[in-house]
Amino acid sequence: MTTGHHFQTIIIGAGAAGLMAASRLGQAGHSVLLLDAAPKIGEKIRIAGGGFCNFTNTHIDGFDASNYYVSENPKFVRYALSNFTAQDFIALVEQYQIPYTEKHRGQLFCDREQKASSKDIVAMLLNECRKGNVDLRYPCKVHAIHSITTENGTPHSEHLDNPHSPRFRVETTEGFFTADHLIIATGGLAIPKIGATDFGYEIAQSFGHTIIPPRPALVPLHFDFWEQDHFVALAGISLPVSVSTAKDQKGKKTITFQEDLLFRHKGLSGPAILQISSYWQPGQTITLNFSPEVDLESALIALKTSVKYQLERALTELIPAMPKRLIQFWLNRPEFAEHQTTPLPEIPNKILQALATSLNQWTITPCGTDGYKTAEATRGGINTKELNAKTMESQYCPNLYCIGEVVDVVGWLGGYNFQWAWASAVCAAKGILAK
Ligand SMILES: Cc1cc2nc3c(=O)[nH]c(=O)nc-3n(C[C@H](O)[C@H](O)[C@H](O)COP(=O)(O)OP(=O)(O)OC[C@H]3O[C@@H](n4cnc5c(N)ncnc54)[C@H](O)[C@@H]3O)c2cc1C
Repeated sequence: MTTGHHFQTIIIGAGAAGLMAASRLGQAGHSVLLLDAAPKIGEKIRIAGGGFCNFTNTHIDGFDASNYYVSENPKFVRYALSNFTAQDFIALVEQYQIPYTEKHRGQLFCDREQKASSKDIVAMLLNECRKGNVDLRYPCKVHAIHSITTENGTPHSEHLDNPHSPRFRVETTEGFFTADHLIIATGGLAIPKIGATDFGYEIAQSFGHTIIPPRPALVPLHFDFWEQDHFVALAGISLPVSVSTAKDQKGKKTITFQEDLLFRHKGLSGPAILQISSYWQPGQTITLNFSPEVDLESALIALKTSVKYQLERALTELIPAMPKRLIQFWLNRPEFAEHQTTPLPEIPNKILQALATSLNQWTITPCGTDGYKTAEATRGGINTKELNAKTMESQYCPNLYCIGEVVDVVGWLGGYNFQWAWASAVCAAKGILAK
């Protein structure tokens, strides 16, 4: 392939969304050039789910999918996710006989026991592209895009001057290529060391789109008080909790997840924290409940009338999932330490109430996140109000499409982000084929 070659569609980014869109278009007979700056294809798929790729979630089908996504415009996802469902992707996985297993709440992973891994999903997508004769080029970095009006590739200065049928000239490290349609599938900003860039936002902005400010999502949280209060000593402890956001501006709605919490040297992680991090706004509190099933205040006061033992044993009985090391740490906190050896009936109710509140409603203010280096996704991105929800086509620039994580859609932990990548890609491919 030489520089200057023309394609019906050029796709920038051969990640989950780009590979899926390319295969659909190619198999329908379209000439497709798929470009990626990274030296390896599908790295995010390969590292996903600890190498076993949580490729979809069956809970999406049959429910209002918008519940599982964070966006300024959450309803935007509904059409795409009902048009290409989790079952549709599962059918493809089954066609390739990749063994998979459900782990937790509808999350489907490649089945380690049967020697399947994320690499099988990458190989499947690459094979689908091969079946469609997709031209895949990597490492090939795209550094500029121009909308053009003429066959000879003369750059057209302003895309908005030409709303009817812009074509595109794509400048890359391997020269330039032209196309009738352009798909931006450059992903989000998580894990820059494997190729995440903000180039997709730049291109979209150059075509008049607005960007909802990107922030790390599905990311561990940090706390100022951590070291001085010696929480670092708890690193490695994990337990099931519920975690909630602060109430919204109307003082009503909170989002709550019941998942596992993990104490780390720098703060908190685990599925509970990753989930809530996508909703957390800097400056806001989060509230953790170490005993979601038991109202500790009434349970401790009731226990006081029937037993004579000390707080450690009482908490061990009431919160069996709470590790002993964490119970001891909690009771060593200055407000409870002097009551540790006191028999339960002699402890004033106000101390039991304070202890119960600290465990049922531990309200803390994160000071930040781990950032993009460990985040699993990006919140924010290309404003979905400026895209067609059925085709992902730009409302400002005909024949320009934006798919996957580069748009302002981030899913819950658990296969929702890949399902969005597959589904938005299929919509764009259908949109282009329908022209
Ligand atoms: C550690 C980790 C684990 C994850 N696990 C899961 C999971 O188990 N389940 C799940 O649903 N989601 C998971 N995710 C999220 C999921 O990987 C992403 O949401 C998904 O990959 C997004 O697909 P995409 O195609 O939009 O972007 P990506 O897959 O990120 O692909 C974008 C591609 O664009 C390329 N690119 C960027 N800039 C340029 C440029 N200028 N020129 C050319 N190419 C460029 C990049 O190299 C990259 O290959 C995980 C993410 C991480 C970081």
